[in-house]
Parts: sequence; structure tokens; C-alpha cells
Amino acid sequence: MRIDVVSIFPEYLSALDLSLIGKAREQGLLQLTVTDLREFTADRHRTVDDTPYGGGAGMVMKPEPWALALDAARTRGPAAAGAPEQRPVLVVPSPAGEVFTQATARELALREHLVFACGRYEGIDERVVEWSREHFEVRPMSLGDYVLNGGEVAVLAMVEAIGRLVPGVIGNPESLVEESHAEGLLEYPVYTKPALWRDRPVPEVLLSGHHGRIARWRRDRQLQRTAARRPDLVAALDPAGLDRADRDV
Ligand code: SAM
Repeated sequence: MRIDVVSIFPEYLSALDLSLIGKAREQGLLQLTVTDLREFTADRHRTVDDTPYGGGAGMVMKPEPWALALDAARTRGPAAAGAPEQRPVLVVPSPAGEVFTQATARELALREHLVFACGRYEGIDERVVEWSREHFEVRPMSLGDYVLNGGEVAVLAMVEAIGRLVPGVIGNPESLVEESHAEGLLEYPVYTKPALWRDRPVPEVLLSGHHGRIARWRRDRQLQRTAARRPDLVAALDPAGLDRADRDV
């Protein structure tokens, strides 16, 4: 998979050199390039923003550098033109976007080329988004219902969530199967050694070695935890995916 990120703070993205994403880049599983938007400015001050038409507070990101930066990112990808499903995806982080979920991560992990456009100030001139639709599948994406100072933190989260689903990035793919949001539920509580810590024992069933009982205990805890913390997820469960014991929880 190829990932391009455009930002006025490229150093913000240096966390993507670390840990599993950093290793995946070293192994060539992910090709990731971070570009400074200011490289695409033509004036002495490397200006990327200007005052908003219509007035109001704050500054808006100018369209010209964005168009040049996105053209450069697009042509770095494997299939710049062609059928819509082969087009690069342009993710535009925005609190006014569709909320990014595990389902979005799964969907985007299947694509060949993702480009992320990190906004700052009051955001990017809207015409950039409109123009980009000629070349990209454009996805305005929100990390959640709150406002950040820029798109970089959102991109770090999205690239990590997507990147860990790319085959080979996580050593043991089994660990992706049971985690929170894999099947619409939150994960069960987890424990490690020692079996007794500060008078708190590990639940006895986990020491039993009885796979069936452990699986049932974990499933019950998943259902209870999800009902307590995220009733919206329980309401969205497909009843056909629940067995009789599930319904009793
Ligand atoms: N004026 C914009 C609005 O009210 O929708 C907010 C602009 S915000 C201060 C600057 C940039 O931060 C946005 O262009 C976007 O790139 C990023 N950003 C802020 N909150 C975000 C969120 N919840 N999810 C994704 N990106 C966000």
C-alpha cells in the first residue's frame, strides 16, 4: 500500500517511523511519504493561507499549493487514472466529515493508494475538495465530535488503524480477530501474571484450561461491557449473530 501525507508540519508525522508502522515501512509493506505543503508555494514567505471571503475569524488554506501538492502525490501512486475503484483515495480530515470507524479502516486497508490532506487554521478552500473529485475518491473524515488544531493527529490515528490491517503488518493476524470493534462488540477484559496481585485474583475460569468455558466467559464479558459502555453498538448488532446464551446475558 502507498500512503502520501501532505502537511505544513511534516515533523508531526515522524511518529509513523516508530513501532509496527515504522517496521512495516522498513519491510516495504507500506510505502509512506510525508510532504511539506510549503514546497508547493511560489512566494518568498511560502504562504499557505489567506483571509476568508465573506469575513469572519481565522484564515483559510489557499487552493494553489494544495492543487500542486495533491497532483504530485497522485502521480506517485500506482494507478493514477482508471476505474473509480482504482483511483487514489483522498482523505480530508475534518470535524465536519463522516466519522472514521473500524469499518472505514477495513475498507481503506484494501486500497492501493491513500492520500491524506492535513488542514490547519479554518480548513482548506472548499474548491480543492470539489476539484479533487476529478482525480480522487474524496473522503472527508472526522476522528470524532470534537475540534483539533490540525489534521495531523487525526492522520496519525487513521494511518495506524488502517496500516495495522494491511496483511503482514501485525505478526499474529489472530490478534485482529477478537479485538474491540472486530465484530461489533468491545473486547473482553484481559489479565496476565501474577495470578494474585494486591489481593486481586485473576478470574478463576481463566486458570481452568477449559477452552469452552473460557470462550463463553469472554463472550459474556464482551456483551456485558458493550451494553454498559456502548449501548449504541448493542442496538446495532444483527440478532442472527447471537446465540441463546448471548440473549441470556
Ligand atoms: N473550522 C473548522 C470547522 O469548524 O469544521 C475546524 C478547523 S480545525 C481548527 C483545523 C483542521 O483540523 C481541520 O481542517 C482538520 O484538518 C483538522 N481537524 C479538526 N478536528 C478534527 C476532527 N475531529 N477530525 C479530523 N480532523 C480534524
